[in-house]
Amino acid sequence: MPDSPSLAAHDDDLLQLIEDDPLSEPASQEPLASWRVLVVDDDADVHRATELAMQGLLIEGRGLEFLHAQTSIAARELLSREDDIAVALLDVVMESEDAGLQLVRHLRASPRFDALRIVLRTGQPGYAPEIETVRTLDINDYKTKAELTRTRLYTVLTAAIRSYKQIRQLQSAQRGLSRIVESVTELNLVRTLPKYAEGALHKVALLFDTQPRGLVAVHHRDDAPELARIVAALGEYAPSLGHTVDLVGVPATRQGLLDCLRQGHSLLGGESYLHFQLANGRVLVMHVHLPHAPNHDMEPLLHTLKSALAVGFDNVALYGQLLDHAYNDQLLQLPNRNRFIELLEQNLRKPEGVSLALIDIDDFSDINDAFGHRFGDQVLQVVAQRLNEHLGSRSELARISADTFGVMGPETLICADSISTAFQEPFVVSGERLQLSATTGLVRLVDSSSLGSELLLDAHIALKRAKQMQRGTAQYFSAEMGVDARERFKLLKGLRASFEARRLFVVYQPQVELATRQPIAVEALLRWRTESGQFVPPDQFIPLAEQSGLIVAIGEFVLRTSCHQIKRLRDLGHSSLRMAVNISMAQFRHPRFISTLQAALRDAELPGSALELEITESMAMDDLDMVLHVLAEIRATGATVAIDDFGTGFSSLAQLRQLQVERLKIDRAFVQETSTEAGSTIAGMVVNLGCTLGMRVIAEGIETEEQAQQLLKLGCHEGQGYLFARPMPAELLEGWMANANKA
Ligand code: C2E
Ligand code: MG
Ligand code: MG
Repeated sequence: MPDSPSLAAHDDDLLQLIEDDPLSEPASQEPLASWRVLVVDDDADVHRATELAMQGLLIEGRGLEFLHAQTSIAARELLSREDDIAVALLDVVMESEDAGLQLVRHLRASPRFDALRIVLRTGQPGYAPEIETVRTLDINDYKTKAELTRTRLYTVLTAAIRSYKQIRQLQSAQRGLSRIVESVTELNLVRTLPKYAEGALHKVALLFDTQPRGLVAVHHRDDAPELARIVAALGEYAPSLGHTVDLVGVPATRQGLLDCLRQGHSLLGGESYLHFQLANGRVLVMHVHLPHAPNHDMEPLLHTLKSALAVGFDNVALYGQLLDHAYNDQLLQLPNRNRFIELLEQNLRKPEGVSLALIDIDDFSDINDAFGHRFGDQVLQVVAQRLNEHLGSRSELARISADTFGVMGPETLICADSISTAFQEPFVVSGERLQLSATTGLVRLVDSSSLGSELLLDAHIALKRAKQMQRGTAQYFSAEMGVDARERFKLLKGLRASFEARRLFVVYQPQVELATRQPIAVEALLRWRTESGQFVPPDQFIPLAEQSGLIVAIGEFVLRTSCHQIKRLRDLGHSSLRMAVNISMAQFRHPRFISTLQAALRDAELPGSALELEITESMAMDDLDMVLHVLAEIRATGATVAIDDFGTGFSSLAQLRQLQVERLKIDRAFVQETSTEAGSTIAGMVVNLGCTLGMRVIAEGIETEEQAQQLLKLGCHEGQGYLFARPMPAELLEGWMANANKA
C-alpha cells in the first residue's frame, strides 16, 4: 500500500480547519476565471479533503476549480485534453513507487505545460530525496502530507499560483514583444508617411487583438493644433483622411487629439492618444481605440511598440527629406534635373505637340562674380518666378544646372517667342533693375529619337549651337546636329574605357635611308582596337583625345612603351636606331611634359638621342616664345625634333630658322603627287628649304618605287612608307629589322 497511515489524521486536520474560516476573502464583484488545480492521488479522501479545505477561498482574487485523477494514467489522459492548469498537486507513490515522479517527467517534457506548477505530496518522505527531486525536476514544492495543514496548503497553492501567473505574464509579454518586433520589422519596409502611419494603426490593434480604429495626425510646430493634418484614418474615421483635426466628426476624439497636442504627452485609456515628437521638429498624434485601458501587462508593451514606431516615423520623415533633396532644388523649390528627367520620360508616352526647352541665362557667371553669390541666387529666384508666370501654368519648370532652367509643355507655349517675351522686361533684384537675356535650346519631342536624359542632351546640343550662333537667341534641335555630337561623345567614352582596359597599343613603322634602304629609325603609331575587334583610325580618335585632354595620359603611355621598345632593339644590336614619337599640342604645352620625357628616358635607361619627337607644322608655328622654350628643354635631354606633315601649314621661314629642329617630314599628300608637276615642285621646295637650313628631310607615305626614285633625285635623304614597310607590332618589327640588316 503506497499511502501513509497518517493520512487520515492529516485529512481530519484539514477538515477541522474548514469550520472556522479565517482565510476566506469576500468574493470580488468581477467574476474572473478560476485557477484550475489538478489533484492526482490514489486516495479518494485526499481529493475530497483538498477540495473541502480550499472551498470558497480566493487566490489573487480568483477562485479555484479542481480537476481529479486517481492514477497517473488517468492524469495523463486528463492532461491530454485539458488546458490552462495552474497547479498540479501530485502524490508520489500511486500505482508504482515513483508513478508521481514519472508523471512529473512526462509533464516537463511537454511545452504545453511549461507554466504548470507542480507540488509533490507524499506520505513517505524517504521515497524521493527532497533536494535532488526539486533540483532535477522543475518542481515548486515537495511536502509530506503530514506537513500540509489547511493553512500550509493555502500558502503553498498561493505561492505556486503566483509563480504560474508570473510565468504566464512573461510568456504573454514575450509573445507581445515578438509581435512588436515582427510588426515593426515588416513596417520598416514602408517608405511613405501615410502608409507607415496606417501600418502603425494596424500594429497597435494587432497587439491588443482588436480591429484597427483610429487616426494619425501630423502637426507642424508653427501651426495651431487645430491645423494638424490627418495622414491616416481607419474605421469610422476614414472620411477624415486628408482633413485637419478641427474637422474630425467625433467630438470626443477631436478634443482628445487637441488635448494631447496641447499637453505634449501621450494620454492612455480605452481611447488612447499617443504623442510622438519627431526629429524634424514635427509632432505626430496617433489615436487608437483599444478594447480596454492598457493594464499592467499591456502598458509596457504599448510603450515598447510606441518607441519602435517613433524610430520608424523618424526614418520615414528622414527618407522623405532625402527624396526631397534628391528631386527638388532647395534654393528655387523647383524640380531638379533628376526629377525633370522623370517628367520627360512620362511625357514621352505622348510626345506629339510637346516641346522641351533649356534656357540658359547669358553671362550669369559675370553677375555672380560682380555682385556675389547671394545676389546671384536672388537673380535665379526672380528668373524662376518670371518663367513660372509666363510659362508655368501649362508646363513643367525645373532647374537643370546652376543657371539653366528646363521647361516642358505644349509646343505653342514653349517656343522661342514666348521665352524671349519672358525676358523682355527688366528684372528687379534688391532694388536693382537688371536687363537679362537668355539663350535657348529647343527640342520638339517628336523630332528626337532619344529618351529621358538623352533628350536633355539633345536640348544641350541645340543650346550649344545657339550660343555659337548668337547669344540671346534660340535654336531648335535637328537630327543631324544630334548624330554628330552624340557619335563623338560615344566614341570618347569608348576610348576612355579602352585606354583604362589597356586595349590601346603601339605599332612601329620603319624609316629608311633612301639611298641605301637601311633602317635608321621607327615611328611609333598608336592603334585602338575596340572590344568588338574593330579598328578606329587614329585620325578619328586622336583629335577627340586631344580635345578632351585624354591625350596627355595616352601620350605618356606611347612614350613609355616606345622607349622600352627601342631600348630592346638597341640591346638586340640595332644600337644607333632611333624612335620617332608623335607629340600633340596638349602634351607639348603641359607643364609636366619635360619631366615625363626625362622619366621615360631614365626608366628605359636610354640616352635622349635615341628619341625623336614629331610635332606638326601648325604646332611649331604657334606661340613662338613658348615653342622655343619647350624646344630648348627637349634639346637639353638629347632628343631631336622633326616637323611632321610639313608643307600643309603656312610656315614662316624666319620662324623655321629659329626653331633649329633636326628634320622636316614632307607630308604624304605631296609625296603621292610627285608624279605630277605641282607635287614634285612642292616636294623639291621642301627638300631645298631643309638643305638650306641644314636639316635632314624625310618623305612619308612612299608607296611606289617611282616615288622613291623621284624623291631621291630631288635630294630627299630619308623615306617612310608602305614601299618599305607597313606599321607593324613589336613582335614582327624585331624580325623585320633582323632581315633588313642582313640585306
Ligand atoms: P603621322 O604622324 O603623319 O603618321 C603617318 C601616317 O601615315 C600613319 O597613319 C601611317 O600609318 C601612315 N602611312 C605610313 N606610310 C604610308 C603609306 O605608304 N601610305 C599611306 N596611305 N599611309 C601611310 P596613322 O597610323 O593612321 O596615323 C595617323 C596620324 O595619327 C599620324 O600621322 C599622327 O598624326 C597621329 N598619331 C598616330 N599615333 C599617334 C600618337 O601616338 N600620338 C599622337 N599625338 N598622334 C599620333
Ligand atoms: Mg608622325
Ligand atoms: Mg605625317
